[in-house]
Amino acid sequence: MNKFEQLGLSESLLKAIIDLGFENPSEVQEKAIPLLLEKDTDLVALAQTGTGKTAAFGFPVIQKIDADNRNTQALILSPTRELCLQITNELKNYSKYVKGINVVAVYGGASITEQAREIKRGAQIIVATPGRMQDMINRGLVNISQINYCILDEADEMLNMGFYDDIVNILSTTPDEKSTWLFSATMPAEVARIGKQFMSNPQEITVGTKNSGSATVSHEFYLVNARDRYEALKRLADANPDIFSVVFCRTKRDTQAVAEKLIEDGYSAAALHGDLSQAQRDGVMKSFRGRQIQMLVATDVAARGIDVDNVTHVVNYQLPDEVETYNHRSGRTGRAGKLGTSIVIVTKSELRKISSIERIIKQKFEEKTIPSGIEICEIQLLHLANKIKDTEVDHEIDNYLPAINDVLEGLSKEELIKKMVSVEFNRFINYYKKTRDLSSQSGDRRERSDDRAPRENNNGGATRYFVNIGSRDNFDWMSLKDYLKETLDLGRDDVFKVDVKEGFSFFNTDPEHTDKVMEVLNNVQLEGRRINVEISKNDGGGRRDHNGRNSGGRSSAPRREGNFAPRREGGFRSERNSAPREGGFRSERSSAPRREGSSDRAPRRSESFGDSPRPRRPRRD
Ligand code: ADP
Ligand code: MG
Repeated sequence: MNKFEQLGLSESLLKAIIDLGFENPSEVQEKAIPLLLEKDTDLVALAQTGTGKTAAFGFPVIQKIDADNRNTQALILSPTRELCLQITNELKNYSKYVKGINVVAVYGGASITEQAREIKRGAQIIVATPGRMQDMINRGLVNISQINYCILDEADEMLNMGFYDDIVNILSTTPDEKSTWLFSATMPAEVARIGKQFMSNPQEITVGTKNSGSATVSHEFYLVNARDRYEALKRLADANPDIFSVVFCRTKRDTQAVAEKLIEDGYSAAALHGDLSQAQRDGVMKSFRGRQIQMLVATDVAARGIDVDNVTHVVNYQLPDEVETYNHRSGRTGRAGKLGTSIVIVTKSELRKISSIERIIKQKFEEKTIPSGIEICEIQLLHLANKIKDTEVDHEIDNYLPAINDVLEGLSKEELIKKMVSVEFNRFINYYKKTRDLSSQSGDRRERSDDRAPRENNNGGATRYFVNIGSRDNFDWMSLKDYLKETLDLGRDDVFKVDVKEGFSFFNTDPEHTDKVMEVLNNVQLEGRRINVEISKNDGGGRRDHNGRNSGGRSSAPRREGNFAPRREGGFRSERNSAPREGGFRSERSSAPRREGSSDRAPRRSESFGDSPRPRRPRRD
């Protein structure tokens, strides 16, 4: 007897559970389901992400609904549109053998009248984001005055996102005698407040230690210099040829920039953030679920709660501001009992954040070093060898074999293997032999700042820069400061004395940031124009004092070999990009799992990202 049968679930649900392939209930399901089925009660359930909370409330709510009554009986609030759709979809699967149940999703960005129409047709369960729900209530498009169940899913995140007022307003239009079930990964004060305000004697369920991370996720960090972040990300991807990952950035701008860089460099990547249209977000998610995208670069809000199976890695390209957020990020992997890895790319100044995360997740991070070029070559070659071994031969090729055999005649098996593998290897080794070690302990940091010593001028030890953007580009000192902080990934007080002129500006940083400013800013474009930054000899006045791009020691800046330009320097990926031979490891790899034999148009990457917007914002070049 399967354990689900002992929880009191109906036949139709048990049948659906078999179809879903769930063998045994998860802990939160085992605790919540019998309790909720048995009586009408308020409930607070705390369980980390990936523990099956959707079914923990989904099964009972479906069973308790009166399917013959078309009135709205249950409202589920969830923080994002993606989650809303995901929950709706799950509930539809759960209830597929229950006749007459209608689940309708209500979220912003789509036609409100269409959603209202669907509700009118009879929706016993509404799954909604708080903002749109509030809208619908205000416009009298929905009636929730009769509901028996209200479920707050991912309550902590809804409150994080500032939905407190909406939630309070929505809840106050619901009847007092309903049951409220609150599901959350964490229990910050605001969640507790909602609980107090809207629940009476809730039952409490806690699964695992509060706030602790999932046991199926291991945590690693890689210490690098700030300017090497992107290069480190690429290496990690190269070192994990089968990576299927969510890469988290802190801002929408970084999310877009990193995704664009990855795509340019030939990776199968896409961005997911709030500046995309709904259709674009749907498209990206569809491609990601279909595994046409290996690296989904996302903001925290956009990726919150996303449940995609078999994500191998979560990459914290930048650490989140809030430690709690780390938990939500890493919960995107290691789901449903699978193992996953959460990687943090970290700079020295952020190291202490690692210890505070360790305290919260009650797990230790393993410190790792970014693989060297040689190690990556080795990994990729083995991957290629395995791929060759596992490739099924399509007999269409038979027609061409005689001609091919003629060409290759006389080569021994050994020679043939060497040559075949070299086709790829040469490109790799050419790219990687020029690159340096990226681990931050290598001491290059110190050497570099030594050669920079003369740069420090009479600016109280600070470095003053000239940059070719100004009020003509719609900056004032505040917005320029914000822009610099964000682009350079610097802290609140790291950029100062910002002085904006019409066509150019000045600003200061401490000398320790000079490398980063020069490297990063000189590789950024603003609305298609390349930004030029130089060390100013001027100590804070408005006079322009520079002679050509290379003044002020920029020429001595050790350029990252090939970093931003692997293509131009014959990096392996570039050649792949320039079809027709989709030869590189990556493109083949990315087409691997399910798309066998799909001979669709060449580079899949552009397909999945082709229509994505390039908002008019600076992009790294
Ligand atoms: P949470 O809301 O707690 O983050 P989800 O409800 O999204 O977690 O579930 C995470 C994943 O686990 C989903 O893919 C879901 O289909 C799967 N899952 C849920 N319950 C079970 C179960 N009893 N057995 C196997 N897989 C399950
Ligand atoms: Mg969930």
